[in-house]
Amino acid sequence: SFHKSKGQHILKNPLLVDSIVQKAGIKTTDVILEIGPGTGNLTKKLLEAGKEVIAIELDSRMVLELQRRFQGTPFSNRLKVIQGDVLKTELPRFDICVANIPYQISSPLTFKLLFHQSSFRCAVIMYQREFAMRLVAQPGDNLYCRLSVNTQLYARVSHLLKVGKNNFRPPPKVDSSVVRIEPRKPQPQVNKKEWDGFLRVCFIRKNKTLGSIFKQKSVLVMLEKNFKTLQAVLASIQNDGSNGEAAAMDLGDHSMGLEDDDNEMDDDDMEMDEGEGGEVSEFKEKVMNVLKEGGFEEKRSSKLSQQEFLYLLSLFNKSGIHFS
Ligand code: SAM
Repeated sequence: SFHKSKGQHILKNPLLVDSIVQKAGIKTTDVILEIGPGTGNLTKKLLEAGKEVIAIELDSRMVLELQRRFQGTPFSNRLKVIQGDVLKTELPRFDICVANIPYQISSPLTFKLLFHQSSFRCAVIMYQREFAMRLVAQPGDNLYCRLSVNTQLYARVSHLLKVGKNNFRPPPKVDSSVVRIEPRKPQPQVNKKEWDGFLRVCFIRKNKTLGSIFKQKSVLVMLEKNFKTLQAVLASIQNDGSNGEAAAMDLGDHSMGLEDDDNEMDDDDMEMDEGEGGEVSEFKEKVMNVLKEGGFEEKRSSKLSQQEFLYLLSLFNKSGIHFS
């Protein structure tokens, strides 16, 4: 009576369950978040290892089965089951998350955890093998992609365990891996939307040079639109007569190769006054200059480290170019 659509593949190998719990490094004082407890094979070991388990399960029949399993045992008052879709549920405070999740929610769930407001020590999660390898991939690795860079900005990610499909009933189509995700502390000070938008552009084609990606018309049109919107907002702030200092701070450096910082406002005015004609190529030049300045023109996203991406984004932002 398992539902394929809910990704219900139950862990049948007790040794493997033990190994996951052991590698998770649970403390006896830990509040553990489990996602998709199913029939409770992992839940039982988590209850043995930690102080409290909060389990979020979508399927009401599973919730019943779980409650029945621990009813009348010493575990029952240390287990709290929340019925619902984890993606739509506000996460409770917890120390550690351990979960054998349905693979279709891998990506949104990972980012839900990464952006969870209250801090936690780590998450130990079973993923489809390829997804796991993408999470941990390093620059130059075949599977290095936007997901790798994005996740690794917010967390340290490591591969813990390879898990063959025959450890599950029914066996899924693909092999799995257990991954540890440790949120970085403090969390990086980036604008999430800006960072995400930036990576989306850089990874339009990960093996293309950044020079050729940023020459694409669709990219330039999008960036120039953002640029102009920001200019308009800043101009209206100025016209409101609010203090120029604040406006200047937000403006960043919009000079088009002019070195004199004192002329910042004047440069912007010049640009705003320009006719439609030369603008696209002028804006394109502005973008290319940023790439040249950082030596990124001939580089490819498939080989860039997270630090290099952060640096390039800071150069763009310094020139008033934004991705969100
Ligand atoms: N943890 C159990 C085990 O290891 O044997 C079962 C794991 S099974 C791969 C995934 C479980 O997640 C199922 O019990 C399924 O009902 C539940 N599930 C599916 N989608 C969910 C969602 N969006 N929110 C919470 N639970 C979900």
